[in-house]
Amino acid sequence: MTSLLALGPDALADFVVERGGQRFHAKALRRNVVARGVLDYEAMTDLPASLRARLAEDLPIFAGRLDAVSEARDGTRKLLLSFPRGRSAEDRLAVETVHIPPHKPLDGDGDPRGATLCVSSQAGCPVGCPFCASGLLGLERNLEHHEILEQFLRGRDLGALRRVVVMGIGEPLLNLENLERALDAVRDEMGLGARKITVSTVGFPGRLRRLAESSPRFQLAISLHTPFQEERDHLVPAMAGVPVEDVLAAGDHWFETTGREVTYEYVLLGGVNDTPRHAEALTDRLRGRRCGVNLIPYNPTPELPYARPTSGDPEAFQEFLRGRGVVATIRWSRGLDGAAACGQLRLDAAGR
Ligand code: SAH
Ligand code: SF4
Repeated sequence: MTSLLALGPDALADFVVERGGQRFHAKALRRNVVARGVLDYEAMTDLPASLRARLAEDLPIFAGRLDAVSEARDGTRKLLLSFPRGRSAEDRLAVETVHIPPHKPLDGDGDPRGATLCVSSQAGCPVGCPFCASGLLGLERNLEHHEILEQFLRGRDLGALRRVVVMGIGEPLLNLENLERALDAVRDEMGLGARKITVSTVGFPGRLRRLAESSPRFQLAISLHTPFQEERDHLVPAMAGVPVEDVLAAGDHWFETTGREVTYEYVLLGGVNDTPRHAEALTDRLRGRRCGVNLIPYNPTPELPYARPTSGDPEAFQEFLRGRGVVATIRWSRGLDGAAACGQLRLDAAGR
């Protein structure tokens, strides 16, 4: 069975006409769902009741199913969605989306700044970073454009969005066509522009250079994780053999072409890449470049042999960089008690 979000404008209009509606009803349907966030046919009172009743039977709004929601004490909610893998409705792929409310909710009607939403671009991930739960099972398949858009819509349904990060499961640059189609809808129909959307990637230089030339619809974050070539070849296996310097040069080109600075993400793995030697070499690589570093203390995953840095290490690492003129922030993870470490909920669901 298809879904409303999966149908392009013409196909949706055909579908509506076959069920006794007018072609222009298709536009109203899409506007209700994507622009206005009305996710229930009953509530679409600008459409004839008979058409709404037919559609409620024949056309689910989303292709995905919401299988579980886990909520952490700080209000972070993780949605476990599943999509059909093939033809059988029971054979399904799990994907996660995380809704992170602002740090300090205001008294009263909630915070006007809105939440951050983290969406996934693929089911599983082909890159295979040894510290990441998403890579453990490899790639299952690319998400379709409407499956990516569905995450934005379900996320917004939990509360207004201030910012979106494509930092969930998967490597966005390996599913670029679907991602861009989804982001077009996010910008043009949901009204969230490029400055509010950050895409995180391991940074394929050729793709980044091409993208930078095409007025990209997002801000860029590149997962660097180490200044050392050999270590990066190990920590980011799909990038093995790609010189770290080429990745940084693609980041420079991105800034020169788009005018937007790149953020380098650096997962701090205790005792692995958080030593003073790393801080020094990273500084040498980045000093003088227009960019920032986002340090991410590792969220331990039970199956994997990596640890959080010891308390105080992230700050010391940050101070070292800052002291030498490299802009650095720390991203403390949210919602740990809700199993919100990257990829974990999906592994639980897969019975691992
Ligand atoms: N595949 C893309 C985007 C998804 S991962 C990428 O790797 O950039 C988003 C970020 O989360 C990456 O920087 C990744 O290295 C980091 N990450 C993955 N597993 C993590 C964990 N267990 N704890 C902390 N950060 C993690
Ligand atoms: Fe894939 Fe990113 Fe996880 Fe690496 S860190 S396996 S690229 S999702």
